[in-house]
Amino acid sequence: MKAVVKKTAEPGGLVLADMPEPVLGEKGEGQVLIKIHKTAICGTDIHIFNWDAWAQKTIKTPQVIGHEFVGEVVEVGRNVSNVKVGQLVSGEGHIVCGKCRHCITGHVHWCRQTRGIGVNMDGVFSEYVAFPASNIWICDEGIDKDVLSILDPLGNAVHTALSFNLIGEDVLITGAGPIGLMSVPIVKRAGARNIVVTDVNPARLEMAKALGATHVVDVRSEKIARVAKMVEGFDIGLEMSGNAQAFSDMVEAMANGGKIAILGIMPADTQINWDRVVFGCLTLKGIYGREMYDTWYKMSALLESGLDKEVAKVITHRFHYTEFQEAFELMASGKSGKVVLNWEA
Ligand code: NAD
Ligand code: ZN
Repeated sequence: MKAVVKKTAEPGGLVLADMPEPVLGEKGEGQVLIKIHKTAICGTDIHIFNWDAWAQKTIKTPQVIGHEFVGEVVEVGRNVSNVKVGQLVSGEGHIVCGKCRHCITGHVHWCRQTRGIGVNMDGVFSEYVAFPASNIWICDEGIDKDVLSILDPLGNAVHTALSFNLIGEDVLITGAGPIGLMSVPIVKRAGARNIVVTDVNPARLEMAKALGATHVVDVRSEKIARVAKMVEGFDIGLEMSGNAQAFSDMVEAMANGGKIAILGIMPADTQINWDRVVFGCLTLKGIYGREMYDTWYKMSALLESGLDKEVAKVITHRFHYTEFQEAFELMASGKSGKVVLNWEA
């Protein structure tokens, strides 16, 4: 079978390799074999493609990459009862230990032994994948498969956006990348009043507007405070840029008592105005992945009620998997929303 492999420890370094198909057999206890239909490219895959400092210390080449997918179950291993052959599935890409304090008390997303599919082990950018049955999410076949291929980042958006009560609140979203964009319709559905989105990319800000943002701010030329015209500042902040300046702007723009959920991964030397946090009585909450599996249930309910149509607008490009090089270059250029790879034909 074909797979997209990070072959060499250098920028680029992706190849379409011939690999043996996974066999469940004796080792397939608790696993399912999936024929991949669609995959999507994540910012994480771009870090691996660019071979930045994080990728250099995390990825052991050669490795199959990718973790956003939808596919069909073609075989189930021993002791698998939650999923059947023929079902359309996606999956949670964080593999937890199942034994620690957090795992056994239902806070699985806090497990410190979490390992990522396509990061700490082979990923899903291949024709077939052996996947732990415990992490399978059975999909609604009425939803477009392109959308089903991006449940992982949509889950990031759902987890972050629903961290705090939003009814009647003024919300600031820093970063209109795919996840920031997908957060806009979620925040709207959850009852926010003003939804202000910032970025430095005009095309992405246009998309934010189309998805329901009340104001968008290109921070290169505008100040957040002027556009928002709010007396006290924002009640809720969703940091989705990973940019230190954006986070700093957010901390300044919050109302006293405001709450910030931080998804963006900021540089280690990011400064923070602690006076604003302490004297402004701000709450900061870090977000990693999705809550297992509360986020997945909430996300499925939102999709059922029409969120899928809005989320579909964030997918701007589709490629056949053999065109992965072009797809990665486009995604890395920032001139796209979500990019989906088709593995069906
Ligand atoms: P992305 O990189 O596509 O989007 C980031 C956006 O921020 C871009 O559109 C960029 O133009 C914008 N930006 C840059 N400078 C800015 C500034 N000064 N002000 C406002 N916006 C600015 O990323 P994404 O895939 O949407 O993910 C968002 C963030 O979340 C990234 O940092 C990513 O690494 C992180 N992430 C975290 C988790 C987690 O579990 N914590 C999971 C997935 C992604
Ligand atoms: Zn654990």
